[in-house]
Amino acid sequence: MTKKILILPGDGIGPEIVAEARKVLEALEAGGLDVELEEGLIGGAAYEAHGHPLPAATLAQAERADAILLGAVGGPQYENLERALRPEQGLLGLRAGLKLFSNLRPAILYPQLAAASTLKPEVVSGLDLMIVRELTGGIYFGQPRGVRELENGEKEGFNTLVYRESEIERIGRSAFEIARRRGRKLCSVDKANVLEVTELWRQTMMRIAADYADVELSHMYVDNAAMQLVRTPKQLDVMVTTNMFGDILSDAAAMLTGSIGMLPSASLDADGKGMYEPIHGSAPDIAGQGIANPLATILSVAMMLRYSLDENARAVALEAAVGTVLDQGLRTRDIAAAGQASVSTAAMGDAVVAALSG
Ligand code: NAD
Repeated sequence: MTKKILILPGDGIGPEIVAEARKVLEALEAGGLDVELEEGLIGGAAYEAHGHPLPAATLAQAERADAILLGAVGGPQYENLERALRPEQGLLGLRAGLKLFSNLRPAILYPQLAAASTLKPEVVSGLDLMIVRELTGGIYFGQPRGVRELENGEKEGFNTLVYRESEIERIGRSAFEIARRRGRKLCSVDKANVLEVTELWRQTMMRIAADYADVELSHMYVDNAAMQLVRTPKQLDVMVTTNMFGDILSDAAAMLTGSIGMLPSASLDADGKGMYEPIHGSAPDIAGQGIANPLATILSVAMMLRYSLDENARAVALEAAVGTVLDQGLRTRDIAAAGQASVSTAAMGDAVVAALSG
C-alpha cells in the first residue's frame, strides 16, 4: 500500500536540507519505493502564512501521514513573539498531537570523521549507539509544579517526577523492538537506588523482558551511564531512559561524534508512525548560503525507512551511500578538516543520490 510522507521544511536552512532529502526520496521512489510525497508548513514559515506555527491544516496532514520528515524551525525574527506563537510550539504541538512518546537519538560516528570528535579516535571511531528517550512524561510534565513562597518568605521551586507503569511499559516495548532491529542489547538507565519512580521503571523493564528473550537486558545507574558514555561508548548498543535523563545523555552522546550536521532523530508513536528530523536547529547564521550539511536530514530518511516504512534493506543502502560519499572525500564546510575543500548542500545531496543509484 502507498505510504504517505509529509514533508515539513520549516525555517532557516530547513528548506535547503529538506530539498536534498526529497531528492533522495524521489530516487528511492524511482527505484520502486511506494510512497506519496506531500509538503506542508510549520514553524515560522507557517506563522508568516497563517499566523500560527502549527495550523490546523498541517496537523490534519500529519494525522493522515504514515511518516513525517521535518527540517528545522526557529529564527531570531520570531524570538519576541508570545510563547504560544513561537516556531518551537509547532514542533511541541505535533509531538503532543500525534502522541510521539518514543524519541530515538542515534549517535553514529563514521570512521571517516573520527577526527571531528573531541575524544580519541580509537574510543569513538565507528560508534553506533541509540538512545531511546521517553518524551511525553516524567518530570518535564509532572504535576504539581511551580514556585511557591514559604511561611518565612523564602521561595521554593518544585517539580514532580511521575511515571505510570503503563507509560514505562510503552517506552520499554518500543526500545526492545528497536534493540531487535539492531544488536539485541538493551541497557535501561535509571537511578533505582535513590528514586522510587525509577525502581518501578527497573522492575517494569525486567517484567516485560520476558517477552523479548532474544534481547539481552542490562541496567545502569544514570551517573555510571554518563561515565561509560565518555569512557567506552562502543560497549553500548541501545539505551532506554526517562525524559530528563535521556535529554542530558543524548546530547552528551551526540557530542561524542563532534558533527551536529550528521545526526538524525526520530519520534515514534505506539504504532511506529514517526516524525523524523535532524537534531540540529535552523542554523540562521548560514541559512540561504547553500553550505548547510544535508546528511543529518538524509540519514533521517534512512531512519524513516527502517522504523516507519519497514524498508530495512533500503535504509541500509542509504546509510551505505552516505558512507560512500564520505569515502569519496566529499565534505560540507562543517565537517571539512582545516584546509580541506568543501562542497555545497546540493552537491552533497546529488552525490548521495548518485551513490544510491550507482
Ligand atoms: P543550530 O543547531 O541551529 O546551530 C548551531 C550551530 O551549528 C550553528 O553554528 C550552525 O551554523 C551549525 N549547524 C547546525 N546545523 C548545521 C548543518 N546542517 N550544517 C552545517 N552547520 C550546521 O542551533 P542554534 O543556533 O542554537 O539555534 C538556531 C535556531 O534553531 C533557534 O531558533 C532554535 O530555537 C532553533 N532550533 C530548532 C530545533 C528544531 O527545529 N528541532 C532544534 C534546535 C534549535
